[in-house]
Amino acid sequence: MTWHPADAAVVGIALPISLAVFGRAVFRKTRLLQALAPPPDPAADHPRRIQELLTIFLGQKKLFQDFVPGFMHALIFWGFCALLLRALTLFGMALGGGFEFHLPFLGPDARLGRAYDLVKDGANIAVALMILLALFRRYVLRVKRLRNTGEALFVLLMILTLMLSDMLFSAALNVQAPAAAGHAALWVHCVGILVFLAYLPTGKHMHVLTSVFNVYLRPLHRSGRLTKLDLADEKVDVFGTPHIDQLTWKDGLDLYTCTECGRCNEACPANTVGKKLAPREIITAEKDCLKRETGRLINGKDGEPEELVPASVTPEEFWACTTCQACEQACPVSISHVQRINSLRRGEVLMQARFPAEIKRAFKGLETNSNPWGIGAAKRAEWAKDLNLPLFRQVPAEYLLYFGCASSLDDRAVKVSRSLVALLRKAGVSFAVLGQEELCCGETARRLGEEALGQSLVEQNVALLNGLKVRKILTPCPHCFNTFKNEYPDFGGSFEVVHHTQLLQDLVRQGRLKPKAGADTRVAIHDSCYLGRANGVYEPARELLAAVGGVQTVEPERNREAGFCCGAGGGLFWVEEKGPRVNHERVRQFHSTKPDLIATSCPYCLSMLDTGVKDQKLENLSVKDLAEILEPAS
Ligand code: SF4
Ligand code: SF4
Repeated sequence: MTWHPADAAVVGIALPISLAVFGRAVFRKTRLLQALAPPPDPAADHPRRIQELLTIFLGQKKLFQDFVPGFMHALIFWGFCALLLRALTLFGMALGGGFEFHLPFLGPDARLGRAYDLVKDGANIAVALMILLALFRRYVLRVKRLRNTGEALFVLLMILTLMLSDMLFSAALNVQAPAAAGHAALWVHCVGILVFLAYLPTGKHMHVLTSVFNVYLRPLHRSGRLTKLDLADEKVDVFGTPHIDQLTWKDGLDLYTCTECGRCNEACPANTVGKKLAPREIITAEKDCLKRETGRLINGKDGEPEELVPASVTPEEFWACTTCQACEQACPVSISHVQRINSLRRGEVLMQARFPAEIKRAFKGLETNSNPWGIGAAKRAEWAKDLNLPLFRQVPAEYLLYFGCASSLDDRAVKVSRSLVALLRKAGVSFAVLGQEELCCGETARRLGEEALGQSLVEQNVALLNGLKVRKILTPCPHCFNTFKNEYPDFGGSFEVVHHTQLLQDLVRQGRLKPKAGADTRVAIHDSCYLGRANGVYEPARELLAAVGGVQTVEPERNREAGFCCGAGGGLFWVEEKGPRVNHERVRQFHSTKPDLIATSCPYCLSMLDTGVKDQKLENLSVKDLAEILEPAS
């Protein structure tokens, strides 16, 4: 087998052309990112970022959440990494180095070289097999979340060609294949790599280049935290993302990095029940808009920007989001969906004053009476009249027990508040309440995009709580918990925030509450999104149930990090759900595990699942908060 100088000359001309096409596309995309605003939180905490890069990017950790496709992708990725040195070697040969060419330390006589040959052969076979599996999943199994585009097929066939041509070339070098076949194989391999290189930055396979940066630069704060808009900044006259100009360069990097794998769609509760919302489609709509706007953005944002809503993303999509973060949890390349959706809402509310009538009622209620129902503020503490709860203003205590709107005003949730008070008294916990002074924590308004109203509630609360010298806040609501814990520090309110299940867990551990065995009961656990995914709190509910004798706990298929929302997050508790209902789907998931009882830790989940059970007439199934389960047993 021979490689003529003419062969080497042609490769020598083709290589810089391919590199130039690649470089031009990357340069243009980089300029586009430079034209966008910096993200609000600069990248800090590099040791943690490096650690997460090792696990999420190199270790492909998030892909293994779904084992088969995760394993498949991981092998392709690791195989590709291993074959980078092989590609350099082959180009060294093709550019005139001859078939004896090898990289330093990787010669056939070196131990490292022989070891690398084994790795390379194994990688070639593994990647080829995984590509066949990928083709099988796409075109035979027709996995629903995957888009079978021409681009996807082209790339899979291209990688398969690269693997097969390398194997054939290696066989020819070892004289197990005809020389002409080996010669052709090296040509096919080199041309394949050059075409792949030129093509890479143009489509969704751009993620091969960007995912390392996207994972490294991902927001490290808890996924439940919304960024604070600086409403007082006089230089800013556009809020939210009514058009693409308001994206940050990290948002743009997210768009380039999306692999269009559809894991976010599959995880999304709204999408699962058939609503129009599909997080991947929001990403691709913004990406398409960014592509159309590239010229204008690079030229200094000259001219009228294209509107994102409703031209690319319709309000029906983003108003259906429960902000449950299941999409972010599923995304293998750490794309931020929730902040993006919230920014679309902010644009609609703050810039266009366009939002559904029910949301308008919630805003009005929050403005006038500090609760989304608009129930008279004086009635907030009425439910507890007979309990003689101590007021923090008069009797400062270890914990400020903050109930929140639902736990004060929703009849079903109020029963949980009563159980909690009884348990705290039984365990001798020092607590006091705000009574009529309690305001909404601001979560609903902020999640619904009304940042001005949300911030005003937060600021009023910070002034009140700091004035009372509150140090520890105890709450039965995961939404208040998340807001106090993760968002109040941005507004000058730093408190130790405890969810009631966490405190109850401590009280049981300390022996201050001693649960007694009840009747044998099969209890299924529902993880609240804002306690679980947003804050990593999963164990208290499980430990408390284990402490109550006679309870057999069961987990639905979607649990913990993969938990399925009840449908009420993102302010949707106050919006009448139209069409198929998320809570019905969640109750169906529970019903299949045949429980007697569903245990919740959130007033929204309690109400949504309770309604779902009643709507489906499941008479032998009930829904209770952990405090209600624990109270009679203690
Ligand atoms: S946050 Fe939840 S509801 Fe919203 S897009 Fe993501 S998965 Fe869907
Ligand atoms: S956003 Fe993430 S999960 Fe969704 S399609 Fe893109 S890469 Fe996949």
